[in-house]
Amino acid sequence: MLPSQGVDAALAGVLGLLVGSFLNVVVYRTPVMMYRQWLGEAVGNLMKVDGVPSLWSLVFGPKTNTPPALETAAGEAAKSIDALPPFSLARPASRCGHCGHQIRWYENVPVLSYLFLRGRCSACKASISPRYPLVELVTGALFALCAWRYGLSPTAALWAAFAALLVCQFLIDLDTQYLPDSLNYALLWLGLIGAAAGLTRVPLASAVWGAVFGYLGLWLVFHAYRLATGKEGMGYGDFKLLAALGAWLGADYLIAIVLVSSLVGAILGTVLLVVGKLAHKDVPISFGPFLAGAGLVCLVAGPDTVRQWIPFAFPLGALTS
Ligand SMILES: [Zn+2]
Repeated sequence: MLPSQGVDAALAGVLGLLVGSFLNVVVYRTPVMMYRQWLGEAVGNLMKVDGVPSLWSLVFGPKTNTPPALETAAGEAAKSIDALPPFSLARPASRCGHCGHQIRWYENVPVLSYLFLRGRCSACKASISPRYPLVELVTGALFALCAWRYGLSPTAALWAAFAALLVCQFLIDLDTQYLPDSLNYALLWLGLIGAAAGLTRVPLASAVWGAVFGYLGLWLVFHAYRLATGKEGMGYGDFKLLAALGAWLGADYLIAIVLVSSLVGAILGTVLLVVGKLAHKDVPISFGPFLAGAGLVCLVAGPDTVRQWIPFAFPLGALTS
């Protein structure tokens, strides 16, 4: 071990703690921003704006109009949405979800503030979820690992971005059953760019085919399952996420990713059952957290180690390695 290796890892770990703090914001706010946008579009589509007919006539025929009561209600809703205070990743400043107390900078130091405040809001003493410091710690550890393995290099930065995006998708899907396109596409493009730039050591062709077959594979499973049972077991976000993972790890890893994701699913399902999160609701966990978890397992173990674990998942391994 080079003496600088530990220093690199420590620096990256501190950066990861700070990024983890930001990821908590991303995980909480991205779905809310998405919902606000969807509602705005929905009511906007019911209204006639500047003489342009509403979508109603395009759907129900050219001689129809949005029923007046509905159009009035949509107008009211649009006004209410416009009147909302700005909401983005940057604004407003973080507040206690319980009493609205604005979090001061020294109450927002990753992990340390949580310990210092003993997991409670300084104003109203409502308990703060241990998930926040946990996300910070995990992100810090993942960043440290990337720097430990690749030094402070573009490759380490790229894999750290991979880790950060997967942490977000894991939690957002767990919370909301959605995998935001904005994060899926960032992951997909970064994987392809990383391969094209020679940073991920996956040949570009393998990255492209990984994305193609990742998407197509789950798409086929989805429609076969839907035809056979009439139910929808996955969503399009899952196809995109597996496509992104295929771009990062290469087409030959797709079977391994799916196998590891079912293992992650079994473990996660057990954990959530024990914690009691699944006990009351009949909401199934979606596939996204398992896929994101599998991506993180491949990062932590290292793609080569995964190949050694489950060599049978690489039937064409001899062709590509
Ligand atoms: Zn409070």
